[in-house]
Amino acid sequence: MINHRSQMIRPMPDIHVTLQKYFGYGTFRDGQQQVIEHLLNGQSAAAVFPTGGGKSLCYQLPALILDGLTLVVSPLIALMKDQIDALQAKGIRAARLDSSLSLEEYREVVEDMRNGTLKLLYVAPERFNNERFRAALEQIEISLFAVDEAHCISEWGHNFRPDYLKLVQFARACDAKRLLALTATATRDVLQDICRQFEIAPGCAVNTGFYRPNLTLRTTVASATERDRLLLQILSANHSASHKGPAIVYVTLQKTAETVAAFLQQNNIDARHYHAGLKDEQRNEVQDWFIQSDSSVVVATIAFGMGIDKSNIRGVYHYNLPKSLENYSQEIGRAGRDGEPATCHLLACADDLTPLENFIYGDTPAASALSRFVECVFPAENEFDISLFELARQCDIRPLVLRTLLTQLELQAYLKGGTPFYASYQFKPLKSSQEILSGFNEERRDFIGNIFRFAEKARTWFQIDLDQAALALQQPRERLVRALDYLAEQNMLEVKVAGVRNRYTVLKRPPSTSDLAEVLFNAALEREQRELQRLQQVIDWVSLDACQSSALTARFEQALDEDCGHCSWCENKQAVLMSPRNQTSPADSVIDAARALQQAHPQVLSSSVELARVLCGLSSPAISQAKLQREPLFGRCESISYQQVLDALSGH
Ligand code: ADP
Repeated sequence: MINHRSQMIRPMPDIHVTLQKYFGYGTFRDGQQQVIEHLLNGQSAAAVFPTGGGKSLCYQLPALILDGLTLVVSPLIALMKDQIDALQAKGIRAARLDSSLSLEEYREVVEDMRNGTLKLLYVAPERFNNERFRAALEQIEISLFAVDEAHCISEWGHNFRPDYLKLVQFARACDAKRLLALTATATRDVLQDICRQFEIAPGCAVNTGFYRPNLTLRTTVASATERDRLLLQILSANHSASHKGPAIVYVTLQKTAETVAAFLQQNNIDARHYHAGLKDEQRNEVQDWFIQSDSSVVVATIAFGMGIDKSNIRGVYHYNLPKSLENYSQEIGRAGRDGEPATCHLLACADDLTPLENFIYGDTPAASALSRFVECVFPAENEFDISLFELARQCDIRPLVLRTLLTQLELQAYLKGGTPFYASYQFKPLKSSQEILSGFNEERRDFIGNIFRFAEKARTWFQIDLDQAALALQQPRERLVRALDYLAEQNMLEVKVAGVRNRYTVLKRPPSTSDLAEVLFNAALEREQRELQRLQQVIDWVSLDACQSSALTARFEQALDEDCGHCSWCENKQAVLMSPRNQTSPADSVIDAARALQQAHPQVLSSSVELARVLCGLSSPAISQAKLQREPLFGRCESISYQQVLDALSGH
């Protein structure tokens, strides 16, 4: 031991000591050491490890060795509470910033960040839209900027999030010394994209491999009517009392999660449902119940599973078709993390394609919506601010699609996004103004006194328009924000913010707004095609006449050297054939009723596109605002393809 210590000139033994001392592990898992060494050598890196592969250690350990703060950006911070608690229990200063924090807790975190005691801070990507947070970050040394679920940065991935494209800019703006991209699923294209955007050298992208030999992959063709019985059969066989083990059943729709769980319960399976429509407490309760049990079955939408660290899941079943092979890989990746055998069984029903395709169509804005959008984002003046919520309604474009469009215009240098701001700041003094002002020198006293004078008093709260105040006081708006924040931290004021507005500068104007609207519309159609292709890949994979494990693996790394021996194709040596889906057309009476609805709402339902949406049960901001979801016609044709509904409407 002493000899070992005396050789601690190279950094390598250090990380082993840290691993043992803080985490209690004797060895690194596959890939961890390489990633950590790249980071400690000052390089940015990527870690592509399967779920449960130990990605978090790749930033937790360097965080302890590097000076400054490690910022962990994750869309799942709500689920990272346990991780943070575990770090704190080891004496490591870690915290998260999210909307669940009380003002007091928020202040404490910001204070710890400023005085350098905090080592790890977990935030959601949206946090960077927060002006106060960005102001707070500027004064801090960020030694490592870790981005979880980094595949979200790629349009080629299955879960593109425009917020992610801007993360790189934020990392640069706060002068982060190195970046770490983490993901469990990145096809080869997506990994290339991640490396390009995060400026990661190809040699610093560590991919530990995708193939899981302990998973048996089965596919069975099932009609919509026989699916319940089939699922019950499979669960009874695989999860009976003698053959216990927890399982997840994935479904597409929330209501299916409820009906299937009820059906299983009636048949003596210990099942519960889980979806994003449940209240937080209910979701937590189901999650805790599942984590603690060794025989429970959760029937869930894809909202379930992310961030769940449970190694003994013995089965992952797909009651409905997944929307892409990337989604499928991620979902089955939750089975058998302990390395013991587990079964993944997909029930392939062609009827599922219709709602999945309709979801995809629902995200494509109408051409007229894009024309309105372009008009709104190139107003007469070059500087403007907008509320995304209002814009979504005004243009009738779904919020996520809207954010993607704005990001596209930023990336094509039409617009430059400024720091979003809160339209209004409100504050309530917790001490007398005399007491507050007495602690400052003359210049600051005047400055703060002026802020107070500028604010308008309501009953107990003061309201201040920071833009106008900044102009009137001839001070940068930033300084006003910082001053109010400082006073809040010192317990002199309580501060409330409201109404996020996004600020933009027009950098160049399109020669023709209608041409630009058309370009955006074509891009939306391309996205639609890409998503439809992904769905087709699922179908092709189900009916593949070759080893399915090998084909799945080939999307992420090299194909297997030999067939896996434990997928449906290897077991039967013949392809599974999907039966054609049930195709029906909307009844004439439905089309007539739809036309009558259109006449009653000429503005929202200005074309057949909007009307087809209502019939297929696809909502949009304008449809929600007009409360058309309450109409009996809403979703009346949800099992009919959107295209067919549109054709039927156009033929009338
Ligand atoms: P991921 O983020 O890749 O899904 P986690 O970082 O949550 O995985 O790690 C999964 C589990 O593996 C955790 O319980 C963690 O404590 C454990 N783990 C991580 N690294 C090691 C290691 N070197 N030795 C043993 N266990 C480890």
